Amino acid sequence: MIIAVDGPAASGKGTIAKALAAYFDLPMLDTGLLYRAVGLNLLRSGQDPADEAAAVTACSFADDIMADPAIRSEAVGQAASQASAHPAVRAALLKRQRDFAKQAGGAVLDGRDIGTVIAPDADAKLFVTASPEARANRRAKEEGGVSFDAILADIRARDERDSGRGAAPLRQAEDADLLDTTDLTIDAAVQRAIALVEARIRR
Ligand code: C5P
Repeated sequence: MIIAVDGPAASGKGTIAKALAAYFDLPMLDTGLLYRAVGLNLLRSGQDPADEAAAVTACSFADDIMADPAIRSEAVGQAASQASAHPAVRAALLKRQRDFAKQAGGAVLDGRDIGTVIAPDADAKLFVTASPEARANRRAKEEGGVSFDAILADIRARDERDSGRGAAPLRQAEDADLLDTTDLTIDAAVQRAIALVEARIRR
């Protein structure tokens, strides 16, 4: 069984994907980490994420970079968002994601284009969203010390870039279930996600 979980930054999709992987006993891939690895690689070598050739070269990274705590920063998220808009970067990371999705027994993948591009034939697809303000609030709590307005501006910039790009833009697949977590606790969002997936696989 393949479960695709897509949505914008700080929507709760990572937490939900992890909970679904535990509940259905499936391996999980956070595909944002691949793009973040490219972003971190570029920033560390002083290169511009807007430079397509440099970004493609940065796709050859050692896997241990994905465990580096620096990869979680918003600066790396923005660099990842810029680098991920290059079609050649998306192409370079495609096979790894498709292979993960197609492994025997199934998998959970979370990202922006899992239901639309990576695994269009997934058994269940969730599009997890929340208002920009709710997402900024969550980030502000995680990242104490950074101003809410700065976080909200970053989130809006990333939403716009991820949704507006030509290559695999962030959008809900036609056959995805929408899960708006704005007014839900984590537990309630996870229970709802499990119920939506179970309803899909029973059909
Ligand atoms: O999900 P996360 O915030 O870690 O992703 C970082 C960036 O990587 C996103 O803003 C997006 O531009 C890019 N990304 C993508 N496709 C995916 C996963 C992430 O373009 N499947």
